[in-house]
Amino acid sequence: MSEKYDVIVIGGGPAGYHAAIRAAQLGLKTAVVDAWAGKDGKAALGGTCLNVGCIPSKALLDSSKQFYNIAHNLPVHGITVENAKVDLGVFIGRKDKIVKQFTGGVDQLFKANKITSFFGKGKLLGSKSGGNNQVEITGNDGNKQILAATNVILASGSVPIELPFAKFDGKNIIDNAGALDIDKVPKTLGVIGAGVIGLELGSVWNRLGAKVTILEALPDFLGTADADIAKVAQREFKKQGLDIKLGAKLGKADVKKDGVHLTYSDKDGEQSLVVDKLLVAVGRRAYTDGLLADDTGVKLDERGRIVVDEHCHTGVDGVWAVGDAVRGPMLAHKGFEEGMAVAEWIAGKAGHVNYDTIPWVIYTEPEIAWAGKTEKQLKEEGVPYKIGSFPFAAIGRAVAMNEAIGQVKMIAHAETDRILGVHMVGPGVSELIAECVVAMEFKGSAEDMARIIHAHPTLSEAVHEAALSVDKRAIHKGN
Ligand code: FAD
Repeated sequence: MSEKYDVIVIGGGPAGYHAAIRAAQLGLKTAVVDAWAGKDGKAALGGTCLNVGCIPSKALLDSSKQFYNIAHNLPVHGITVENAKVDLGVFIGRKDKIVKQFTGGVDQLFKANKITSFFGKGKLLGSKSGGNNQVEITGNDGNKQILAATNVILASGSVPIELPFAKFDGKNIIDNAGALDIDKVPKTLGVIGAGVIGLELGSVWNRLGAKVTILEALPDFLGTADADIAKVAQREFKKQGLDIKLGAKLGKADVKKDGVHLTYSDKDGEQSLVVDKLLVAVGRRAYTDGLLADDTGVKLDERGRIVVDEHCHTGVDGVWAVGDAVRGPMLAHKGFEEGMAVAEWIAGKAGHVNYDTIPWVIYTEPEIAWAGKTEKQLKEEGVPYKIGSFPFAAIGRAVAMNEAIGQVKMIAHAETDRILGVHMVGPGVSELIAECVVAMEFKGSAEDMARIIHAHPTLSEAVHEAALSVDKRAIHKGN
């Protein structure tokens, strides 16, 4: 008889580890199977997010921002630094240390919550044992064992999409993990895809001196963001030297001695470009390789994602799925919430995920953040709306910081005044979006936000003024 758990989670990324910790908190006997090996070959919990995603990319964004500011921001403050240099070993080493601290932290949390951790590949079997689900674990040493559980949570995450004509080789043509570990600043870096990952990692290497060219197949820049916000961001990225070519479809990428030779087509016809390195960041796909035996009954959709209902249930008794492996935005915090909600549903409690208020953030300079509907979406849906906006140029704190770029745009229902969406580009907006999410979660109106006292002088005054501006009564700008 195999060892029996209440919950086995396959995948120890953000979605999986949140599910496991919440399940353990609720008194459920919980195990996690995760296959991720760190640079030292040892188990490294935390999935894409902690190992090669959210955290390491933010570490490099922050380091590169410090370097960029020396030449581009400090002189305005009367500070000059000569001969500033980047030690790439220290730069990458700092990021690696942060990754280790956080992956080790998840391991500690598992121990503190008495969660059993297995390092290896997990596979949901179709056959049941005494009515329980079964998971086969293949350890990294090749040894197999079978565990039983009342509930199995599939949290296998996602992997980068590979283009058949630009295959990753880890050296010249790289994915997000490769772009976090370049050992010499390339003179030229090509990036395929002007999405979040392309823009963030393109910014890192641009700030260190690489000439970065981003090819984006779509005609619009950041089509998922609000158009006004995208326009400001595009203008600022151009000023920073990022060369973003829209409507540019990659045809071929040949690795030769002198670099990666790209052929792409745009509105003017066939073009070519040679770059030292090529980062392919065209999106990610749900990862389910080897996860499911043929007879489990768990279904995948046309994009390879695990099919679930609104409660993240797969339709197979006791089998749930969360995070990047299922529908919805591929964001760590969306996975956190799904993981915790599933644990609560399993424990018979009222889990909850509000997909309408998930915040989006792009950690470039300026930062971009939004929650709720864009103006374009509301137009398409025929919802009557009114808009308030406020520029950071009129915010004392932003000017004092020399970061007076961008704006906050608030959209409210024309009749009820309920906040339907907030869109921002500017300094610190990754933090400012949180209060807007709170307001939306509580079904707040623009007037509610306008009546809330915001400290002066802070960046948050831009949110306050945007709310006032919905009613055409912003104080520090014409209405
Ligand atoms: P993952 O994090 O992919 O974890 C899945 C885990 O399951 C992995 O450890 C994998 O090894 C393991 N696994 C898979 N199959 C099996 C199996 N059969 N057996 C055992 N283990 C298995 N999101 C944000 O919200 N904010 C950001 O700033 C952000 N920045 C990002 C930057 C980059 C460069 C990238 C690539 C992503 C970023 N993301 C960001 C996205 C975020 O990383 C993902 O949305 C998040 O990691 C998804 O969590 P997950 O738990 O669903 O899957």
